[in-house]
Amino acid sequence: MDLVITGGTVVTASDSYAADIGIRDGCIVQIGQGLEGAERIDATGLLVLPGGIDAHVHLDQPTSDGTVMADGFASGTRSAAAGGNTTVLPFALQIKGQSLRSCVEDYHRKADGNCHTDVSFHLIVTDPTPQVLGQELPALVQDGYTSFKVFMTYDDLVLNDAELLDVFEVARRERALVMVHAEGHDAIKHLTRRLEDMGRTAPFYHGQAHAQIAEREATHRAISHAQLIDVPIVIVHVSGRDPMEQIQWARARGLKVHAETCSQYIALTADDLRGLNMDFEGAKYVCSPPPRDADSQAAIWQGLRDGTFDIFSSDHCPFRIDGTGKDTPRARTSFKWVPNGIPGVETRLPILFSEGVSKGRISLQRFVALTSTNPARLYGLYPQKGSIAIGADADLTLWDPTLTRPIRQTALNHGCDYTPYEGMDITGWPVRTILRGQTIAVDGKVVGTPTGGHLVRGTSEAFSPE
Ligand SMILES: [Zn+2]
Repeated sequence: MDLVITGGTVVTASDSYAADIGIRDGCIVQIGQGLEGAERIDATGLLVLPGGIDAHVHLDQPTSDGTVMADGFASGTRSAAAGGNTTVLPFALQIKGQSLRSCVEDYHRKADGNCHTDVSFHLIVTDPTPQVLGQELPALVQDGYTSFKVFMTYDDLVLNDAELLDVFEVARRERALVMVHAEGHDAIKHLTRRLEDMGRTAPFYHGQAHAQIAEREATHRAISHAQLIDVPIVIVHVSGRDPMEQIQWARARGLKVHAETCSQYIALTADDLRGLNMDFEGAKYVCSPPPRDADSQAAIWQGLRDGTFDIFSSDHCPFRIDGTGKDTPRARTSFKWVPNGIPGVETRLPILFSEGVSKGRISLQRFVALTSTNPARLYGLYPQKGSIAIGADADLTLWDPTLTRPIRQTALNHGCDYTPYEGMDITGWPVRTILRGQTIAVDGKVVGTPTGGHLVRGTSEAFSPE
């Protein structure tokens, strides 16, 4: 064997046990006791988990107003690797009027050769023309781009109900998994106008304009459309109790509705958007859906425990707080011009580990399921990714469950100039990330040149019979 990892505790979505892991040609070839190989990593006292899979990451995406995303593929995947991830699923965003195929080619030009983790694109469909729905999308699904996101809000991204139904039909026919950003566009626009009329333009009011009721309504509408077409969907970045109840309602009726939540909905609240004194500091926390309240945080934890949520992602969407990102003259005039999104690909796993596992809210097995195994199953990567088993890729993250230090911007690898989680105390950090048998990060620092590749994905398990 090329490499053995000895003395650690192996943790999977269903089990945990003491074992050595033997690796050859980037794959796991043996799990047992007393293994020997050319190279050895001593994992005594450490946990050995499947590498993290962050299924919701925005990198190098163009914006309608020319603000620049703080991470390209190099810095974004450095940040991911340092945070314990071996695979990320970013988006290839179709700009209205653009061919979906050429947009995918553009993203490959930006990503290929620059990635420290393995990568596979979700598509974002914003312009469902007959050409896109009839030819480009089916061909791309055939080529292994087996999931795509649609938006129910944002002026330059939103699909109307007729378009959503058309797109769901194609997804059903091609067995592609649709990820839905569920927020009601007209309700948000209405609330935004009323808040602006009252002079309430600080970043804090972003949270009020993006009301949880609007998220609940859109969640229900997406579920109903999916039921009409009989297609599985994923409701992404669920923020609180109201949309969660719609998902539970659907599941109780046997509908194939999957759900994702993110770090910001357990670690931040609407109060963070106040900033220091209703000032522009609040812009650091502007994302959609926005963080809610303590009751919603409690509901999200319940959903993480009871299986309402299949996956836990970052929705990494980084903008610097300076003038290239959030703080533009226009953004100072109204919250509606503040770019939506926060960084989180590097802090996702430590936050859930510390707040969840270390504080006794979820088991280690559940942690692995939410952050690696389930994303692999849902997005057509299993069992090559997301498991510790013979024949799987040797994607492993070694964790020190006792290591305690706070999150500090100065220690992060992302291209953003702040973290919304500054100063948060964390117990349990990833100390080594291994991609296909190669160490790619140690103690929060990336090592080596980019070796990440592009993954062709299979059909989502959401399409498998129960
Ligand atoms: Zn979204």
